[in-house]
Amino acid sequence: MEPDRIVVLAGGVGGAKFVRGLRALARRDFPAAEITVVANTGDDLWLAGLRVTPDLDSLMYALAGVNDDVRGWGRAGETERVSAELTAYGVGWPWFTLGDLDLGTHIARSALLKEGLPLSAVVDRLAARWPLGVRLLPATDAEVETHVVTAEGELHFEEWWVRTRAALPALGFVQRGVAAATAAPGVVEAIIAADAVLLAPSNPVVSIGTVLGIPGIREALRETAAPVVGLSPVIGGAVVRGMADACLTAIGVETDAAAIARHYGARADGGVLDGWLVDGTDASAVPRLEATGIRARAVPLWMTDDGATARMAAAALALAAR
Ligand code: GDP
Ligand code: CA
Repeated sequence: MEPDRIVVLAGGVGGAKFVRGLRALARRDFPAAEITVVANTGDDLWLAGLRVTPDLDSLMYALAGVNDDVRGWGRAGETERVSAELTAYGVGWPWFTLGDLDLGTHIARSALLKEGLPLSAVVDRLAARWPLGVRLLPATDAEVETHVVTAEGELHFEEWWVRTRAALPALGFVQRGVAAATAAPGVVEAIIAADAVLLAPSNPVVSIGTVLGIPGIREALRETAAPVVGLSPVIGGAVVRGMADACLTAIGVETDAAAIARHYGARADGGVLDGWLVDGTDASAVPRLEATGIRARAVPLWMTDDGATARMAAAALALAAR
């Protein structure tokens, strides 16, 4: 299948790796295709007077090729002089280091927001600096932030994730401000007009789950004529990277590729999925998933480099076309 319009729902680092692979595939096999990435904005926060958008930035930096591949987040060749000054003033979170180059992005973003631009327009302005090769959209222009319910009260997702390393048991997640939010301009339209919609192998709870929670987005996935295919972020019963298992446990979903697919649900059954890719290790789940109305296939799901990830994206599009 040679899709003209592909939409990807994505979180930060896992989402960025996947979109890089998809972009590599498209450049080789269908260069005219338009790729729209709908990014999670639930991790966004105001810190030291600046609006920080972690997942949008992970996507922008990785697609621009200026990300720190070794550390896994932020800019390559980064320094942290400004953060040290902020800490000396007791401003911000000392355990949430913002690099100097990264702070440049946050200052620019905050300045544009304070001029009155909505986040989607700000993303356009920032991304115009680099030829990303994809259209990057925030899920919403509204400030909808993920908070984690714990025995010690509600924490912003980033505080729970970075300061407590997700060790403080999560009792649940809330999307503060979601009731009044709508999808950002272009999001629903892109999903409806798509030839294929892909769910990146991102955190199913606080990345994809948060995007699906923005009013209008889940409905658009249910409505679109395009097949919706997801890729598992869990291989052999373990998250590939990070602590997404703590999020899954909190919402009562097993850290298991098939359990995540059942959580998203078959579109025929009120859910959002037509298809689901699991890793070869989880091949035994394929017949069971197909029996529940989700087309499934087992292929290698390790995003070791853009080439391997491009093969994952090709398998997802092939499953969509089946
Ligand atoms: P975040 O916003 O930076 O946390 O990134 P995402 O939500 O986009 O992605 C995080 C998820 O990516 C984690 O749950 C990982 O299990 C998953 N992930 C990371 N690397 C790989 C990989 O090579 N293969 C697969 N299948 N999943 C991966
Ligand atoms: Ca994130």
